[in-house]
Amino acid sequence: MSVTALRAPLGHTTVASDKLGSYRNTQALIEMGCRPQLVVKLTAASMPEVKVLHRRFHGEEGADKGGRKARSLLPLLENHPKHAASSLFYKIYASILALYGVERAMVHTDAFVRALMSYQAADPSGAIDPDQAYLIASLHHTGEVLLTRCKVCPAQYMISSTPLSNRYNTTTGRCPLCYELALLSADRGRVRVTDPKTQREIFRDIIG
Ligand SMILES: [Zn+2]
Repeated sequence: MSVTALRAPLGHTTVASDKLGSYRNTQALIEMGCRPQLVVKLTAASMPEVKVLHRRFHGEEGADKGGRKARSLLPLLENHPKHAASSLFYKIYASILALYGVERAMVHTDAFVRALMSYQAADPSGAIDPDQAYLIASLHHTGEVLLTRCKVCPAQYMISSTPLSNRYNTTTGRCPLCYELALLSADRGRVRVTDPKTQREIFRDIIG
């Protein structure tokens, strides 16, 4: 058996001239609840085409009400359920992206479609929406977010590559799993986990 045969198969990147592939991506993005503006950004489809499809799937009721797009990373790092969900989406996106074997500075549509699908199946609560998922994927390509391994628990989570300022201090993001475990720790109540030794003790108590 040759070495090539042992390699994981690389995904086929949908190009703009591939009308069927582009249509499939457009349809999937709309079904998953992406706003028309986001669908247009990610596919070769035009806004009128996207709006027709959007109405077909979601009806007039589901029309985009506008509103603000997700622009800031900080709300995703500071809200622990959102941080855990962001980390999950990011891990899925990065692993699917690797299958396409492409290095690029912009979001890879095929990888994004598949990652969002897997994320929504894995997290029915939908703690992050498609705009927030797109923000994470964009920041990955600009090198503004990274995945890191927690030194205390087995989690891998998303951090900012540079410290971000909030009202109280600066942060790159702390392990959301350790935070959740600290909340679950009955005898400690709502502890603020800052000390790795305390975190390790809490983790050992809960996991055994
Ligand atoms: Zn942790």
